[in-house]
Amino acid sequence: MRRERRVRIVATLGPASSKPEQIDALHRAGADVFRINMSHTDHALLRSLVSHIRGVEEAVGSPITILADLQGPKLRVGTFEDGKVTLESGQRFTFDQVDQPGNAERVFLPHPEILRALRPGHRLLLDDGKLSLKVIEAGPTKAETEVVQGGVLSNRKGVSCPDTLLPVGALTEKDRSDLEAAMTVGVDWVALSFVQRPDDLAEVRKVARGRAGLLSKIEKPQAIDRLDEIIELSDAIMVARGDLGVEMPLEVVPTLQKRITREARRAGKPVVVATQMLESMITSPVPTRAEVSDVATAVYEGADAVMLSAESAAGQFPVEAVSMMDKVVQAVERDPNYRSIIRAQRLEPEATGADALAAAATQIAETLNVSTIACYTTSGSTALRMSRERPFAEILALCPELATARRLGVAWGVTTVVCERASDLENFIAMAGARAVDLGAAKTGDRLVAVAGVPLHTPGVTNVLQLAFVRSSDER
Ligand code: PGA
Ligand code: MN
Repeated sequence: MRRERRVRIVATLGPASSKPEQIDALHRAGADVFRINMSHTDHALLRSLVSHIRGVEEAVGSPITILADLQGPKLRVGTFEDGKVTLESGQRFTFDQVDQPGNAERVFLPHPEILRALRPGHRLLLDDGKLSLKVIEAGPTKAETEVVQGGVLSNRKGVSCPDTLLPVGALTEKDRSDLEAAMTVGVDWVALSFVQRPDDLAEVRKVARGRAGLLSKIEKPQAIDRLDEIIELSDAIMVARGDLGVEMPLEVVPTLQKRITREARRAGKPVVVATQMLESMITSPVPTRAEVSDVATAVYEGADAVMLSAESAAGQFPVEAVSMMDKVVQAVERDPNYRSIIRAQRLEPEATGADALAAAATQIAETLNVSTIACYTTSGSTALRMSRERPFAEILALCPELATARRLGVAWGVTTVVCERASDLENFIAMAGARAVDLGAAKTGDRLVAVAGVPLHTPGVTNVLQLAFVRSSDER
């Protein structure tokens, strides 16, 4: 589908948006990517959501992107005799290996490997950081802590260990089974939660076997420490501000958002900014000014996509939230300042044919005021390198592979159409012109810039740049 904007919108599905007509309405309102949160989705629901999305895709006749988000090693405490306890600042509290309901002195921590990794001085943050504890003594079967910031702690609340490199991979048993299910139903992207190190990606890569792109959620300080290596091994990145703001001081989240966005863009990996973007729209039909400004900031920074979580999954105004995001993105993209900002952020091309041609195509389109840069892409890489240039001309990706076309749905400025396999360069240029006209991106007689690799269908080759004319259908 052709949107009137370059930045993409990711909408999380949930109870407020699981029916085919609701998914259709979100797509019409502007959702390009649907995120299925495996923390709250069983395999039957996953299958049904994917089949509903594919139904909408078929009806609109253009690719839609599906992202399955794996829960990852989210640590939780056990339960309490009374369902909850109140911890007072200054008191001692023990985490142990005794699988029995806890009280105001102790609780079961069903993760022995975590106890082994804790060291005196490490912080334990409970319930999204509402409570904070410091480890006094750590042993293989229990950890003694002092409560720094007290509060109410109830059954199965989350535990974050920002100072501890956890000896766990990014995949739990549940994640493995969810990943298999996601591969079986055919999602386009898999998101990995709580990535800590580059190795965390290897296992997922092995299972996915190229069937889905891998998106790393950056939400742990350990991932920030090795950001460049993680970006290198990922296909896309998420600034997962929810957990990031628990594991790191909240006030550094904006700085990290800028840094992660820039580094991902430099590598040419799509970057999604996520969490609480229009949070108040869970219960209100209009967002706050600060939220609107937050979405705008992500767009000015050049993010590929902005994301809705509970706003679209469980809120009272899911369609309104998508529409609002769409309007904010469009308003920013119409701002003349936006162009100068994006232009100023433009990155040096790497020393490859694909980058040299992408930079040249952008330059030509600007000099001649050409509205469309068409590229022929089988693996998606030509289109992604083109997107990295952030040209103002529309990137029209002609793609003979449906899976690639779907995956490109997260990338900035790329309009993807699934096409027949082109027989040669001429044939591709003719098809691109026809599609640009059909989509309303260009008219007969306009120029278009074409980028491809010949012979076509040779992976990893981008070697042709042509300035062509959009011919009328009887000339084709
Ligand atoms: P989550 O990830 O919603 O799965 O926790 C996003 C975030 O932490 O921001
Ligand atoms: Mn998270």
